Amino acid sequence: MNKFNTIHLHTRYSDGNNDAYEYIEEAIRLGLISIGISDHSPVPLDSSWAMKKNDLPKYINELNYLKKTYGKNINVYTGMELDYIQGLDIKKYIDFDELNLDYFIGSVHYIYSDLLNGYGTADNTQENVEKLLNEGFNGDSTAFYTRYYQTLREMIQAYTPVMIAHFDVLEKRNINKVLFNPESESYKDQIEKTLSVIKTSCVEVNTGAMAKNIDVLYPSEYILKRCLKKNIPLSVNSDCHFISGLLFAYDKAVSLLKKTGYEYVYAYDGIMKPIRI
Ligand SMILES: [Zn+2]
Ligand SMILES: [Zn+2]
Repeated sequence: MNKFNTIHLHTRYSDGNNDAYEYIEEAIRLGLISIGISDHSPVPLDSSWAMKKNDLPKYINELNYLKKTYGKNINVYTGMELDYIQGLDIKKYIDFDELNLDYFIGSVHYIYSDLLNGYGTADNTQENVEKLLNEGFNGDSTAFYTRYYQTLREMIQAYTPVMIAHFDVLEKRNINKVLFNPESESYKDQIEKTLSVIKTSCVEVNTGAMAKNIDVLYPSEYILKRCLKKNIPLSVNSDCHFISGLLFAYDKAVSLLKKTGYEYVYAYDGIMKPIRI
């Protein structure tokens, strides 16, 4: 039995490379306590990764079927990575309450730019994220990350998700501080403000970028320390897009958490349950 799991993973319904049953079979093989499928919610924007709105009924039916089929061997949960986009009501757009999901995780991928009078994506190629900073925010990195964290705070308050996905996803394209300085007081102030609005949600420790050969574990060590100080629970997840990444770099994440001073993290199995590390 493996005490870890992931409730953040993507199938072919969004931008993953495997089907749900393949992840479930791999999770059984690894002896995980549970597994949750969380494809990207449909969004009313052009998106290369979101699930198509028309596919929603099929997605829910397929997961219900898999829950029954594999239920003797593993607890399977029907989830979603629900986007929060300023000015667009995603829950209404997809009749969210009718879906009866077991859980959802909340994330911000789209940032509104006044200059563009539209949205850019915070989680994209290096070129596209830099383009958003330059064209959407006139190169003003403070305005750029402030808008991101402001949107994240709105998400946390509006959704109270079971888990906040990739809290500081901007760090993925900020290697060598090409976008902003995470040590600045102004950046730390945004972190503090955002952690302060968390009531019940776990913060995700996300190994997904590492699985894609980008050497970034989020949240940053600084944020991990602040979470510990503020008693904010963490949950390790792989944001997995292919079955071989199901528990990618968990050992590395756990040893960093221990070094930071954590003794427990949380894993979802109907509710978030503490596990000793
Ligand atoms: Zn995401
Ligand atoms: Zn994801």
